[in-house]
Amino acid sequence: MEGAHVGPKLPDVGHPQLGDTKKEAQVKNVVHGRMAACTLTGVPRPCYRHMFAQRRSPGPANRFFRRSSCLPSNFAVSNFIQYDSLLTDEERLVRDTTRQFIEDNLVPIIEECNRAGRFPRELVKPMADLGFFGASLKGYGCAGMGNVEYGLMTQELERGDSGVRSFVSVQSGLCMYPIYEFGSEEQKETWLPPMQKGEKLGCFGLTEPDFGSNPGGMRTRAKKVGNEYVLNGEKMWITSGTIADVAIIWAKVENEKDKIRGFLVETDRPGFKADDIHGKWSLRASVTSGLALQDVHIPEANLLPKTGGLKSPLMCLNQASHGGRLARPWPAMTVRCNIRCCENSGAISPSLRTSSCKTSSRG
Ligand SMILES: Cc1cc2nc3c(=O)[nH]c(=O)nc-3n(C[C@H](O)[C@H](O)[C@H](O)COP(=O)(O)OP(=O)(O)OC[C@H]3O[C@@H](n4cnc5c(N)ncnc54)[C@H](O)[C@@H]3O)c2cc1C
Repeated sequence: MEGAHVGPKLPDVGHPQLGDTKKEAQVKNVVHGRMAACTLTGVPRPCYRHMFAQRRSPGPANRFFRRSSCLPSNFAVSNFIQYDSLLTDEERLVRDTTRQFIEDNLVPIIEECNRAGRFPRELVKPMADLGFFGASLKGYGCAGMGNVEYGLMTQELERGDSGVRSFVSVQSGLCMYPIYEFGSEEQKETWLPPMQKGEKLGCFGLTEPDFGSNPGGMRTRAKKVGNEYVLNGEKMWITSGTIADVAIIWAKVENEKDKIRGFLVETDRPGFKADDIHGKWSLRASVTSGLALQDVHIPEANLLPKTGGLKSPLMCLNQASHGGRLARPWPAMTVRCNIRCCENSGAISPSLRTSSCKTSSRG
């Protein structure tokens, strides 16, 4: 099938590369036999039948498939669009290491955790050792991963369990990131190294019982009194609330015309209370809590100095959801969950795997 395409004969233009336009990549794919041209129009179009045939018998001339063939066999099943060929060796190493960790440590216990509504806290330290927390941050013991590496890591976590991925996203994107982005040097030195090691856990308090999609309406207030702030309010649906050592609390500051600012609140301060929310139907392996703050006094040094307005918490949500702008784990998460379903179906029935893969490759 190598080079089998209809339409005009094209010159050898090399293999597709990053930076090619869609059209250039399509032309190169036709030349190298990974795409067929439409018999009517001659326009390149994907030929999945051809791609799967190539996968079964990788030829020596086919660099594209040789690269994929070094992957674990169960991963190759779901490599529908030859996505791996776009990754560097380092990116694949991050992805495969995370995947192996999840397969060895999370997959065997996740069913029990889900049924019991138990967060697998025993995995916090091993995850920290692999550099999962604050992975995209630089310095303070963090791994300094690129955005694609961070996204791939998150994708593999999601493949294991949404709740555990959620815990890691909160620790990294919603707690360590705001300290890194909006904090003073002293705050960074105090919190980031122990959070990276998993010795200290964080939670992010933005949502309130009456304000979820509209956080700008929040009722939580901070009032400056002397060299302290006094916080009052309630937060709801807070991941890791009852296991956190520090809460990033977003509140309107009365002395600053109700400007929204972020505060570091140690969870053992008098007046701070956290209770778990029970009976969730999803993300059952993560802790979700309600927080109550009643006259919680914190030193003014606990204000995250560079926060100002709703933009600050929204930047954190952006970081947590998109894994740093480029990697965008959100679509990856959905794809990853579906891929695991597909692979599991395949483990039960090879014929089902074939049909699932065909369906997905068209979707
Ligand atoms: C498991 C879990 C963990 C969470 N962890 C955290 C956390 O760590 N920290 C934190 O701060 N929050 C957390 N949240 C809260 C989450 O961010 C909110 O659930 C989310 O912002 C939505 O708010 P809500 O649940 O109050 O829904 P609502 O705002 O009441 O919305 C309900 C529905 O109405 C729709 N809707 C709302 N307004 C409009 C509109 N104007 N037009 C059209 N449709 C609309 C929404 O899309 C949604 O489908 C968590 C939630 C869950 C379930």
